[in-house]
Amino acid sequence: MDCIFCKIANGEIPSTKVYEDDLVLAFKDLEPQAPVHVLFIPKEHIASAADITPENSHLVAHIYEAAAKVAKDLELENGFRIVTNVGEDGQQSVKHLHFHMLGGRGMHWPPG
Ligand code: AMP
Repeated sequence: MDCIFCKIANGEIPSTKVYEDDLVLAFKDLEPQAPVHVLFIPKEHIASAADITPENSHLVAHIYEAAAKVAKDLELENGFRIVTNVGEDGQQSVKHLHFHMLGGRGMHWPPG
């Protein structure tokens, strides 16, 4: 499958890693939208949050555990945002489930 985030997960495409374990990889976004912009992906291919099932939902919980660790490591004690875009209306450009961690500045609400 021609999936850029699968290639990042298996090392075919380089990334700036901030966290890795058997199930999850976190790396810096190439086009950061905030001083901290990290993407968390499951190593297993899941197309989007619309494809989370009882069989794979443990990976989402695991990603949030990893995100809590990374937030401490990156000293985001003032807060941060985690967002996942889904499909066309959600403006998802990469069809491999990923969670954006944005921090280091105040966020806006509602998002655009
Ligand atoms: P989304 O639009 O929610 O699907 O987010 C995809 C994100 O992946 C965007 O913020 C891109 O900047 C980011 N991105 C695409 N290719 C790479 C890459 N090779 N390394 C790091 N980030 C990437």
